[in-house]
Amino acid sequence: MTLQSITANQIHTMTNVDGGQGTTGLIERKYINIENDKILSVSSKPQFDDIIDFQNQYDILPGMINAHAHLELSQLESPLELENIYKSQNPSTNNFSIQKIITNNYSHNFDQWINQLMRFRRSSVYDSTLAISAAKQYFAENNETAAVVDIIPFDFNPNQIDIGKNIEWIRHLELIAWDSITVTKKIKTICNLPKNSYSGLSPHAPHTVSADLIEFAVNFGVPISMHLAESPDEIRLLKSYDGKLFEMMRKIDENYEPSKILAGNRAMDYLQILSRAKLSLVIHCNYLDDSEIQFLAKNRETMAVVYTPRSHDYFGFGDFPLQKMLDNGVCVLLGTDSKASTPDLSLSNEIKRAVFMNPIIPLETFFQMTTIHAAKFLGLIENYGTIESGKKAVFTLFRNIC
Ligand SMILES: [Zn+2]
Repeated sequence: MTLQSITANQIHTMTNVDGGQGTTGLIERKYINIENDKILSVSSKPQFDDIIDFQNQYDILPGMINAHAHLELSQLESPLELENIYKSQNPSTNNFSIQKIITNNYSHNFDQWINQLMRFRRSSVYDSTLAISAAKQYFAENNETAAVVDIIPFDFNPNQIDIGKNIEWIRHLELIAWDSITVTKKIKTICNLPKNSYSGLSPHAPHTVSADLIEFAVNFGVPISMHLAESPDEIRLLKSYDGKLFEMMRKIDENYEPSKILAGNRAMDYLQILSRAKLSLVIHCNYLDDSEIQFLAKNRETMAVVYTPRSHDYFGFGDFPLQKMLDNGVCVLLGTDSKASTPDLSLSNEIKRAVFMNPIIPLETFFQMTTIHAAKFLGLIENYGTIESGKKAVFTLFRNIC
């Protein structure tokens, strides 16, 4: 039996976040008493002799919830090299850095990144089981993640491996299919899959999933994750059925026909479909207009936007409309996305980047997104999201450098 008391100079319990924007229930020098894997109490004096004191080395927060990842790509040591693409267009540039991508606006290379990703997935190096092992090791070594919403490939067998006993592995099955034959096959397979092999479905994105399959997923009654309004090329494809994404899809399938695949001409058409799902995580949403942001705010109980700060920077997309979303009351959560576009699986590092990119927004707001708000939205609040007796003893040790 493990009986332990832990403390630090600052503990963010997240228990009174409704008391005002930006509050996290901050308490100082109290003790979190732990029995096995549960929080027994929070008290002024330690309940047990075994005491770990993080002093001012770390702040303690509830374990964080990563609302969007693709752990199948965790084998990659660093994001896919856009450097080469960039160099080929600008031979004089030798040094690659995220900053450079931002200043040079990289969004036009999104289609090339997808191509590179598809090549990696088809290569002999790609191994989703090994990748999950790499993620498991990372989570075990880096104390902060309580739960992760992970997009798993359609043919992935989760019974081959686990992610570690201290993490909730919420698996959303990735759906990519646009022609009617493949769509029918996928629907049949989904209906026959054992229910414990996944807990949600993830129609990938407007250009890779037919409207029929999205409708099926939404009506299936499980939570949904879907990438939406990620790039200007996607918005263009929806609007005028052409552009780089269209050309890319035509190279993959010469019969690709947007008029038969797309569910509408703007992101709003997709948001309306997703609003009928039990719960939907709408990933990215970099290019929404005001009415679409207001629609998400109106549906905040069942629709959340997932912001992936470092991945966003990597592509050099335009400013993420975070302030506007928060002002309107949109539920915004944070995710890491995959290691094909972010260096590691750390939400703390995502928060640090988000604060840097959004200096007006208080750090505490990002703490809320990754703890109490994510736990409430995803139905995990019974065990996670706050530091209170009865909750699981999973914590984030946050080194506050902001
Ligand atoms: Zn993603």
